[in-house]
Amino acid sequence: VSGAPSCRCRHPLPLEPIASDAELPAALEAAARETVARLAATPGRPAAMAPFDRLLTEPARHDELVRDPRPVVGTLCNFVPEELVLAAGAIPIRLDYSLSSAARAGARGLAADVCPVVRALVGAQLGALPGFRVADLIVVPTSCDGKRKLVRALGDQREVHTLALPQEREGRRAQAAWREEIAALARRLEALTGHRIRRGALRDAIELLNRRSALARELAELRVKRPGTISGRDAFLVLQASFIADPTWWNERTRALLDELTTRPSTEPPALRLLLAGSPVLFPDLHLLELVEGSHAATAVIVADEMCSATERLYHPTVIDETTVPGILRAAADRTLLPCTCPCFIANDDRIDRILERARSSSAQGIIHHTLRLCQLFDLELPRVSAAVRESGLPMLSVTSEGSGEDSALLRNRIEAFLEMLQQVE
Ligand code: SF4
Ligand code: SF4
Repeated sequence: VSGAPSCRCRHPLPLEPIASDAELPAALEAAARETVARLAATPGRPAAMAPFDRLLTEPARHDELVRDPRPVVGTLCNFVPEELVLAAGAIPIRLDYSLSSAARAGARGLAADVCPVVRALVGAQLGALPGFRVADLIVVPTSCDGKRKLVRALGDQREVHTLALPQEREGRRAQAAWREEIAALARRLEALTGHRIRRGALRDAIELLNRRSALARELAELRVKRPGTISGRDAFLVLQASFIADPTWWNERTRALLDELTTRPSTEPPALRLLLAGSPVLFPDLHLLELVEGSHAATAVIVADEMCSATERLYHPTVIDETTVPGILRAAADRTLLPCTCPCFIANDDRIDRILERARSSSAQGIIHHTLRLCQLFDLELPRVSAAVRESGLPMLSVTSEGSGEDSALLRNRIEAFLEMLQQVE
């Protein structure tokens, strides 16, 4: 595993790999193949999905990252402006996974009562999962207590950069602190690669990533305008392929997919259009979407979402109004903070507004709100979300999951009952 330990603590976490951890890469590969095989078996699936399937199931991209002389920067969440990483001469990849065997392995070194995302990340380190194998530096935002402690858990083992998030998203103090945090990240990236971040490289990277963002918005609009042309499962797959894909590769393949989708004859619209909100659903575990869209109760499609692992990841472009390096860094900082609806911030009415706005603009007939078990941030916001949605008159189902297929039977019953109820309302 590359990257020297960051913190060299006097009391490091007792986190030694055991023999079964070596099986985690194979478990990840098998889970990825199984998910993709189920999605690929859907009749009439777009042919242009094939490159995304291969990217997520074959080792080619990982091998490419190993061969590439540029350092790899692993990120969590969406708080790292990837343009900085590219402009510094490194490669950004987002490391978030959902893999129950990695979560079980990670629980050895953490209290059991930590959310499965954090446990899986510790498991990913123990099992040297592909992203963790290639990352020279991991950037961890302090978005919740689990992530804060993750800095220490991973930092005992490798090089980690902490991104201290402000408690509030709005207000001059918060924005100034965040801009300083991003400037510090820029300096750390320069030290990692040995390259100064220059204006031309920053502008090129922003242009590339804004093209990616425009394509992601086009995909979001298509899901709404022609519901069922692409399933929510495939849309999630495409958006999460961007976690590891080279942005130029992703832009080309997504353009080809959109061209195929827009020139296809219209399909029979689904009986139900749904919005999915809440804690991230992460590849390879898309079972929540599979339960909704594969339900026998009704043909239902997730036409929109409010999730950091899907639409929220790429939707917002960076808007430059001052073309100096500090000015562009400020624009990049603002883009990662201001439109973000992560519940880690104290005041978060914008998240509720966004859920309601997405539901309205997508003509969703119902909302499914997902909370990962032990994620207090989403749990604590749920009563306010539920009240606002109730007031809007839209039905909402709130589900809690382990982020693994292990709770499918219970979830299936609740989802089917919700879809049946929606059909009766229609
Ligand atoms: S919801 Fe927030 S803290 Fe959780 S993974 Fe997404 S961006 Fe990170
Ligand atoms: S799911 Fe919740 S508890 Fe887990 S890392 Fe994300 S914000 Fe933190």
